[in-house]
Amino acid sequence: MTKTLKGIAASDGIAVAPAYLLVEPDLSFAKKTVDSVEDEVARYKKAIADSTAEVEKIRDTAKKSLGEEEAQVFEAHLMILNDPEFTGAIENEIKSQKINAEAALDETAQKFISIFESMTDNPYMQERAADVRDVSKRIMAHLLGKELPNPASIDHEVVVVAHDLTPSDTAQLNKKYVKGFVTDIGGRTAHSAIMARSLELPAVVGTDSITKDVENGQMLIVDGLDGDVIIEPTETQIAEYKQKGEDFLKQKAEWRKLKDQPSVTADGKKFTIAANIGTPNDMPGVHENGAEAIGLYRTEFLYMDSSDFPTEDDQFEAYKKVIEGMNGKQVIIRTMDIGGDKHLDYWDLPEEMNPFLGVRAIRLSLKNEEIFRTQLRALLRASAYGKLGIMFPMIGTLDELRKAKAILNEEKDKLVKKGVKIGDDLQVGMMIEVPAAAVLADQFAKEVDFFSIGTNDLIQYTMAADRGNDNVSYLYQPYNPSVLRLIKHTIDGAHENGIWCGMCGEAAGDNIMFPILLSMGLDEYSMSATSILRIRSLMKKLNTEDLKELANKACYVSETAEENEKLVEDLMKKLIK
Ligand code: PEP
Ligand code: MG
Repeated sequence: MTKTLKGIAASDGIAVAPAYLLVEPDLSFAKKTVDSVEDEVARYKKAIADSTAEVEKIRDTAKKSLGEEEAQVFEAHLMILNDPEFTGAIENEIKSQKINAEAALDETAQKFISIFESMTDNPYMQERAADVRDVSKRIMAHLLGKELPNPASIDHEVVVVAHDLTPSDTAQLNKKYVKGFVTDIGGRTAHSAIMARSLELPAVVGTDSITKDVENGQMLIVDGLDGDVIIEPTETQIAEYKQKGEDFLKQKAEWRKLKDQPSVTADGKKFTIAANIGTPNDMPGVHENGAEAIGLYRTEFLYMDSSDFPTEDDQFEAYKKVIEGMNGKQVIIRTMDIGGDKHLDYWDLPEEMNPFLGVRAIRLSLKNEEIFRTQLRALLRASAYGKLGIMFPMIGTLDELRKAKAILNEEKDKLVKKGVKIGDDLQVGMMIEVPAAAVLADQFAKEVDFFSIGTNDLIQYTMAADRGNDNVSYLYQPYNPSVLRLIKHTIDGAHENGIWCGMCGEAAGDNIMFPILLSMGLDEYSMSATSILRIRSLMKKLNTEDLKELANKACYVSETAEENEKLVEDLMKKLIK
């Protein structure tokens, strides 16, 4: 039966394909004694053989679709499945305790995991704990007759359905086959949604119940433009949405014509439209969409994509590649923003009650100076290859900013003494994403070269509404006058003190927000690369004279976000014929 779910439109476009559920089955079991140890050992051996065959198949598909490197992890899993020390220990446990294979597997795996995890002086061995955990899960699923999702083995077009997707899940999706995704939870500015936009994957998040409403293989329409998901659509709906998808692609082709044109308003005022990236692999999208700069390089993805801390040289190479790739145009690289919804498997940090309010971003860097210094050295060395801006995330106090700058200057002095060349154009800036920093923008502006407003966080912290929680998404209001006043105050604070101000939060690429920001005189607009040409097209239609009153009205006359939305919509109807 056809059913429509409403969610949050997270990434533009239309996808029509069968559902692929990325949902872990319940693997709980009861410990039991067994009558026949032989039968239990045989049952266990069958689970090992089935798991091995399954992993071999996944490895082969992953090699073809994702590449040798991505398939490596499955080689490691096969080694564990073939390791008599591990498999023999489980067998012995069944025999000696006369217990069921599930209990023997669980007990043995826990032992191995804690041994590996305790090897704190050997990060390679520590990582093996994750492999043992994965392999044990697979054997357990076979023992219980359940099926684990295997995203790396997807070999046909699908829409991925999940309760939530972590940024690393999203990174592993193979774009050749994954045509879109839908989740139960999440918001438009959660990092998985941001990644979907950079991958140009249509996505709808926050549907509440998709994982319960859809079964593997059922047909789905994902409307990432309006936030609708249709389960088992009719033929007419499929045709209708395919048409909507084609219209969208045609519109995109129109925007493409603006790729090499400057970002100017109808009255000839020039602004910068920049791209946000997560890895050097995003560079083709940056060029295809005619970005005039990189306004935000989220370096944490470099840490998240590797199995251990990237070395100074690894980082240097990645930063250099991006800086050189921009041929002298500005590149703003943000120091790592780990914490909140971004974790590293190899960095065991204490659990926190409120991770978004905890040790995140610059707070984590200042607590772990060596890791921070390594990143700063890599950035400083890379600065010689173009026009770099180093940016600190989540600055809340002047003390944090001064500490971060002092460490940067120490590393810079050390490199200069060694004769290492540092770029002449190097700028140092900070994100304005903590309300405390926005309020004191005038004071912060005296100590940096630029600001970049991170609305994704600024909104969540101003409205006290988790950016990834769809239950409070009604409070996540970019157009709320309180948020707009903080933005205006930040831009004014920057300009009064002679520095430039950009925005790298998703609001910079929002059709309603954009005219307000233009009216406030924001200098640089940094967004998912796929939003650039839409915004450039809008900019060309607007005359700054017509927007003169807009900022003040939006900040000081309007009382609600809805009023502001209507204010801009009405004005746009009048100005754009
Ligand atoms: C922001 O908070 O607006 C931002 C750009 O940073 P991130 O989305 O990575 O938190
Ligand atoms: Mg942020």
